[in-house]
Amino acid sequence: MIGAGITGAACAYAAAALGAEVVLADAGLAGRATAAGAGIICPWASHVDDSAWYALASAAAREYPGLVAALAGAGLGDGSYRRVGALIVTGDADEAAAERERLLARRTAAAEIGDVEVLAARQARELFPPLRADAAAAFVGGAARVDGRLITAALVAAARRGGAEVVAGRAALASRRGRVVGAEIDGRLTEADAVVVAAGAWTAPLLAPLGVSVSVRPERGQIVHLSVGPADTSRWPVVLPVGSGHYLLAFDDSRVVAGATRETGSGFEVRVTAGGLHEVLTQALAVAPGLAAATHLETRVGLRPAGPDLRPLLGPVRGVEGLLVATGLGASGLTMGPLAGKLVAQAALGAGPDLDLAPFDPVRS
Ligand SMILES: Cc1cc2nc3c(=O)[nH]c(=O)nc-3n(C[C@H](O)[C@H](O)[C@H](O)COP(=O)(O)OP(=O)(O)OC[C@H]3O[C@@H](n4cnc5c(N)ncnc54)[C@H](O)[C@@H]3O)c2cc1C
Repeated sequence: MIGAGITGAACAYAAAALGAEVVLADAGLAGRATAAGAGIICPWASHVDDSAWYALASAAAREYPGLVAALAGAGLGDGSYRRVGALIVTGDADEAAAERERLLARRTAAAEIGDVEVLAARQARELFPPLRADAAAAFVGGAARVDGRLITAALVAAARRGGAEVVAGRAALASRRGRVVGAEIDGRLTEADAVVVAAGAWTAPLLAPLGVSVSVRPERGQIVHLSVGPADTSRWPVVLPVGSGHYLLAFDDSRVVAGATRETGSGFEVRVTAGGLHEVLTQALAVAPGLAAATHLETRVGLRPAGPDLRPLLGPVRGVEGLLVATGLGASGLTMGPLAGKLVAQAALGAGPDLDLAPFDPVRS
């Protein structure tokens, strides 16, 4: 397994649980998406019109509580996962009612969406006090947040407990007569029957020496962490302003996270820019002016692995025996990563994935 972000870690955990001998290698590259991701799990609010994407994302959201319970039960923590709900902030009550109808229609096939109601601005502010005074909203009870770093560390620890060897180092694919036979990790060959490349935004250059071309590129995201201490933010909902890619969410330690830029064409430049910071803070303060006095803690930068379209790239690479890919999760990888990793582990081990991977062919253009 190459890459121990949320996708590779989940894949290693699942493969070890299926009885495979697993080696998980990671180079700890700056800009890994999992270390910067916000952690919103609410695919049902998305306006994305792609049924395969939605099927995967909603199945992944449904599986999260079970995964978290298993990790917590094993003493590995809950990854700060919590169903805090989400406020879909709209221009007016009519728009909020339309959002509610859309969510209720989806709830017939996804009971985990939970309570859905229209809230007046005053009610919305009771849940998220810094909100602007006129923010009508639709509330989705089933929405959750998770800390990408913590849940991934728990998955790696669980994989290790299942027998996986975790190695720090930069990996390259090793092949013989057109077949992948393992990986060289910092120059040392580790042989394997199958290699899963879950190297996020760095996947394409890893595959290129084999003549395999995948359409995955880095999409930079800058995301700001603020402190509103000593406020108790542990139950504050996610805030999703409708029609905007920006959002707010909170964690237990009086921390509010404001995200994020979506910079296609950023390349691998991992840095905070004046324009990025300005964009994120302007959008955050427009929806939640009460954050103006918050303390700036840090700005994280991550490179989302963006595919040719919204669908991830999952499964075997046609024409190259022993090679599988698990990437392209874009802006939804903290939601989909655990299930995506598991599905590719099942495919690698011939276990018949729980979900059809045909729509996610890694070498589609
Ligand atoms: C600002 C921001 C906000 C986001 N918010 C959300 C959100 O709210 N909800 C959501 O669902 N998703 C969100 N995402 C998306 C999510 O974070 C990503 O889709 C997900 O983390 C991708 O995980 P990954 O494991 O595929 O890739 P990564 O986390 O990038 O992991 C790839 C790993 O591969 C390693 N690697 C690469 N090349 C090599 C090599 N040659 N050898 C060894 N190791 C290698 C790297 O070191 C890295 O650890 C957000 C992303 C960003 C940037």
